[in-house]
Amino acid sequence: MLLKALLVIGVIAAIYFFFFKKSTPLTKERYDKKRKDDEETMVECESCSTYISTAEAIVVSGKFYCSTECRDKA
Ligand SMILES: [Zn+2]
Repeated sequence: MLLKALLVIGVIAAIYFFFFKKSTPLTKERYDKKRKDDEETMVECESCSTYISTAEAIVVSGKFYCSTECRDKA
């Protein structure tokens, strides 16, 4: 009887952890996606007119550049 009770508890725990584990990365994924969306505002490179995200852009005195090369050229 005790063994059966433990088995039931084990199954419940397994189900609980399955859902718990499954829901945690999903929430993190959503959080990351939101962060990604915030970062992905596109800006134009002052030098070569390439569009880059603000996360990738190099900002020099309020102007955006796609790379250090473009920054040095300008
Ligand atoms: Zn550029």
